[in-house]
Amino acid sequence: MDMRAGSTPAENGQTAFRDALIAAGLLIPTGVDGLYGRSGVFEDVVERFNDLITTWGGDDGADVMRFPPGVARHQFEQSGYLKSFPHLAGTVHAFKGDERAHQSLLRRLEEGEEWTDAQMATNVVLTPAACYPVYPTIAERGPLPADGALVDVYSYCFRHEPSLDPARMQLFRMREYVRAGTPEQVMAFRQSWVERGRVLMESLALPVAVDLANDPFFGRAGRMLAASQRDQGLKFELLIPIASAEQPTACLSFNYHQDHFGLLWDLRTPDGAVAHTACVGFGMERVALALFRHHGFDVKAWPAAVRAVLWG
Ligand code: AMP
Ligand code: ZN
Repeated sequence: MDMRAGSTPAENGQTAFRDALIAAGLLIPTGVDGLYGRSGVFEDVVERFNDLITTWGGDDGADVMRFPPGVARHQFEQSGYLKSFPHLAGTVHAFKGDERAHQSLLRRLEEGEEWTDAQMATNVVLTPAACYPVYPTIAERGPLPADGALVDVYSYCFRHEPSLDPARMQLFRMREYVRAGTPEQVMAFRQSWVERGRVLMESLALPVAVDLANDPFFGRAGRMLAASQRDQGLKFELLIPIASAEQPTACLSFNYHQDHFGLLWDLRTPDGAVAHTACVGFGMERVALALFRHHGFDVKAWPAAVRAVLWG
């Protein structure tokens, strides 16, 4: 256990929990904070939870879309992500040089010199949230039908936020339902998921609280955006204590974007009005970690009721 001098109790709790997860083999360290392999047991929990989401949301008739964990750079640029979260974005770079450049790369590598500054941007950016490819995709189809759109996505996401907290990863999975339509359709969707999400998580015997939240907008202007997001009640999170009892972790998010993405992508309702959008996001690793924290590392010893919900 790594109880560093100067660490807060929350940090000590995070490090202790991470060490225990690694010792139990549930997380496989790579030497990079926030980048882990996962054991078969961990993955089984993620898959069962993914199925449970479908049990609750599958009858709504969502259009299932699966994207790889990269978005097209031109879409990423248009999405406005760099205005709000430049500190989290991960761009994919690659070698584009000739043989001389290759020799130089190998020499610098050999000599322990910086080599990555010669890498060039590709047209791929790592997906920051599973819903990002959805808005341009549905906007491309023209105006929404009268009942709007409902999409089911599931993707690995990247955020550059290395941390000792095992619940704050750099690459993690997010399952989402995304709704687009009139403000009424979208608000009704979000409200229904705030309620469903709570009941779903309580069926796993986890201690949950739903609270107002904000996104980690960058810089001084970002603080204003965060405050206004809270004032308008645009983001709620379902929180569960994971690594620290004092600072519970957001495991589900319920976001109302108003007309933000509608305006960006020219997404319209049948009467020509700018569409509103919302999404509910499930943090798959965080939910698995919450289950391990509260029910123990031995899934066979989990409460029978929880096992029944997940394994039937
Ligand atoms: P957000 O778009 O920030 O609301 O994220 C949606 C969900 O993804 C959150 O409710 C978390 O459960 C999960 N999530 C966000 N950031 C991370 C992270 N760094 N590591 C693991 N899960 C995360
Ligand atoms: Zn989303």
